Amino acid sequence: MTARESMTNLHTPSPARPGWQDDAPCAQIGPHAFFVTTGNYPDAAIDMCWNQCEVRRSCLETAMAMEGDSLEGHRAGLWGGFTPKERRALAVQRRDRRAA
Ligand code: SF4
Repeated sequence: MTARESMTNLHTPSPARPGWQDDAPCAQIGPHAFFVTTGNYPDAAIDMCWNQCEVRRSCLETAMAMEGDSLEGHRAGLWGGFTPKERRALAVQRRDRRAA
């Protein structure tokens, strides 16, 4: 399973999803709004993450852990309300904070 497949599975109903993913509201609507190729995520998806999701923090930290510290690695999808570009910026912030 590729990282993208693994990440896409978060947003897809599955009996194999562990823990917090069972409470992910996006699992009920599928991955289409959370994986876009344009980089323009629907407002409804962003709103769901920030205003309707009780597991947003776990979602974000799962993505950050899966994507690792690499600033060049592939990032895909909306996780924890953060776009791939925003998560990369967050990784830079965290790296700089650790180095300080
Ligand atoms: S933060 Fe967004 S992508 Fe993550 S589980 Fe919640 S609704 Fe889904």
